[in-house]
Amino acid sequence: MRGADLTRDTPPTMQDWLDLHGLTAQGCADLVSHAPPIVEVATVAAPASWPEGARLWALAAAALSAHLPDLAEDIAHTAARTVVNFAPDPARHPRPFTVRLAEKRMVYASCPLSQGAGDPILVAHEFGHALQLHLVADRGVPPILRETCAFLAEEVLLRELPGLAGDYADAVAARLARARIRDFGRLRETLVEALRDPAARYKYDWNYPPARRLALGLCRHPDTDAAMALFHGRITLGKLREILRL
Ligand SMILES: [Zn+2]
Repeated sequence: MRGADLTRDTPPTMQDWLDLHGLTAQGCADLVSHAPPIVEVATVAAPASWPEGARLWALAAAALSAHLPDLAEDIAHTAARTVVNFAPDPARHPRPFTVRLAEKRMVYASCPLSQGAGDPILVAHEFGHALQLHLVADRGVPPILRETCAFLAEEVLLRELPGLAGDYADAVAARLARARIRDFGRLRETLVEALRDPAARYKYDWNYPPARRLALGLCRHPDTDAAMALFHGRITLGKLREILRL
C-alpha cells in the first residue's frame, strides 16, 4: 500500500519514526544516499491486454517462490488463503491496501486494478504485505520493514517475469523504473529535508526510500536468509543494514 496504512504504531514525529526503527538521522541519510543513479526510462509498447487479477496474484506467488524456495509453503498458503478484492469500490477504496483482520483471523488485500503496467507491480506489492502478515500475525512490524517486504516482492517479480510471463516484462520493467525514480528522487528529497527537523510531523512517504533501497539490496543479495527473516518479522533494520552493508 502507498498511503495511510499505519496502524497502532504510528510515530507522531521524525524522531519517533527514527527511534521506532533504531535509526539516527545520519544513519537514515546514509542508507538512502546509497540509492542507485536515476536513469531515463525508455517508452515501451504495452501488451494488447493485461492478465486478470487472479493470474497476477499467481504470478506474484510464483516469482516469490522461485526466489525464496524455502518459503514456498507459506507463499502457497498466502496465495490460497488471502481474501483479495481486485475490484473494490473506487469511491471508498481507491488505493490498494492489505490488512490482517484479527477477529476473523484473515488477511484481506484490496487491489484496485487499472488494466495497465502498474497492475502486476501493485499486486506483487500487496502479496508481499500479505505474506508478511500471514507470517507475523499480531506481532507489529515497523513500517520501513513492512514496505521492504512489499518492495522486495515487486523487485522479485521484475526479476522472474521474463521466465514466467515474458510478454509483460518490458512494460513492467519500465513502470518499476519509474517507481524507483519517484522513491529515490522526489520522495528521497522530501525525506532528507525532513531529517533536519526531529519534530517534523510524520509522513508515511518517508518509509519508501529506505524500504526501496533495502529491497534492492535484498533482491541482489546471494543469501536469502535475511529476506526470509524479514518476512517472518525476525530481523531488525540495523541487522539488515549490517548484512547488506548499507
Ligand atoms: Zn505498501
